[in-house]
Amino acid sequence: SNYQSYEPLTESAAVTLALRLGLFEEKSVLSCTEIGDGNLNLVFRITDQSNNGLIIKQALPYAKVIGESWPLTLDRARIESSAMLKQAETAGEYVPKIYYSDETLAITAMEDLSHLQIARAGLIEGKDFPLLGRHIGEFLGKTLFYSSDFALNPQTKKQLVKQFSNPELCKITEDFVFTDPFFDVESNSFEDELRPAAEAIWNDTKLKLEVAKLKHKFLTEAETLVHGDLHTGSIFADDETTKVIDPEFAYYGPTGFDYGHFTANLLMNAISREEAKQQVLLDHIETAWTVFAGEFSKAWEKDGLEVYTGIDGYLSFILEKTFEDAVGFAGVEIIRRTIGLAHVADLDLIEPHDRKIEAKIRALELGKKLVKHRSSIKTPAQIADYFKQVP
Ligand code: ADP
Ligand code: MG
Ligand code: MG
Ligand code: MG
Repeated sequence: SNYQSYEPLTESAAVTLALRLGLFEEKSVLSCTEIGDGNLNLVFRITDQSNNGLIIKQALPYAKVIGESWPLTLDRARIESSAMLKQAETAGEYVPKIYYSDETLAITAMEDLSHLQIARAGLIEGKDFPLLGRHIGEFLGKTLFYSSDFALNPQTKKQLVKQFSNPELCKITEDFVFTDPFFDVESNSFEDELRPAAEAIWNDTKLKLEVAKLKHKFLTEAETLVHGDLHTGSIFADDETTKVIDPEFAYYGPTGFDYGHFTANLLMNAISREEAKQQVLLDHIETAWTVFAGEFSKAWEKDGLEVYTGIDGYLSFILEKTFEDAVGFAGVEIIRRTIGLAHVADLDLIEPHDRKIEAKIRALELGKKLVKHRSSIKTPAQIADYFKQVP
């Protein structure tokens, strides 16, 4: 690193840094605004007099959630920038360009994507983003195949497992996604009207057994370098372009994790929509899977290690396993976003209140079904059937 010690940047320090790094021409007149959500990271947007932009994201040494604050490793900035660079090796069109990163300052300087919209915000406004499913499918097919044991020699892969060891961020997922929502603990957060539904979940021993199996997969199945936080707030999009940001939770985990989270977040948006506008989201879920499986299969044929690709039936086995896991992870994500610590605006903004409560009860029913029935749900069309059937 070029820096002796960490300190949080101010807007003016971010400008000075951008100039010192040569990220703008010397005589540029720059302005800077901090545009992050303020829970874990600072995000500075710096622009020059011609409105050329640059983003500097900086990790903070703590996380803030509902007034509480706990220490959180700055190492996640290294994970984030190296994950983006790794993704860019095979799927460069779907990630922002990285201009600079520094581990001591815990910063990444990257392409300004402000001309695009955060997919969650657009979906809540009723936008469709016609290429969203196709692009996410391609991003996942390429990134997940090429960092797996099917593409890499086992020594190289194990080096990457080490490089992307991310215990503190994984612990956040282990606790707040896979554990707390399934027990009556302080961190959970939901409307009083949801208490009976939450208690039903806490008492559902069959559900909790399946969630324990999924949690163990998250902890142990170091299959490939997953994004780790692929909700619709981690995707910038417009009608032509899709870019995936914020891989600070990246680690070696189950191949189905990201598609599961993407699917869950589209399903929660679909629940918030009138019926006539839901199908487009179910179509994205289907397209993303079809394109993912197509890309993964193409890469398998072209670049897969013979020890696997030479075995009849193995590719189908892997794709089926990945889909089943993804359906389970989708169910867990829906449940935790409804009664756990971190909610999604798609559900929270539903009005009036009664309709919001109904939607959340429906979300919980859908989440439970996906977790429990995942071994018999073989296609995105069957996910759509469950979506349509839940009361
Ligand atoms: P966090 O990890 O704190 O969630 P994100 O990487 O998701 O941080 O960024 C938070 C917000 O900052 C995004 O929702 C977006 O509004 C803005 N942002 C992040 N990266 C960029 C970028 N490359 N271009 C434009 N805006 C960005
Ligand atoms: Mg955020
Ligand atoms: Mg983040
Ligand atoms: Mg984010």
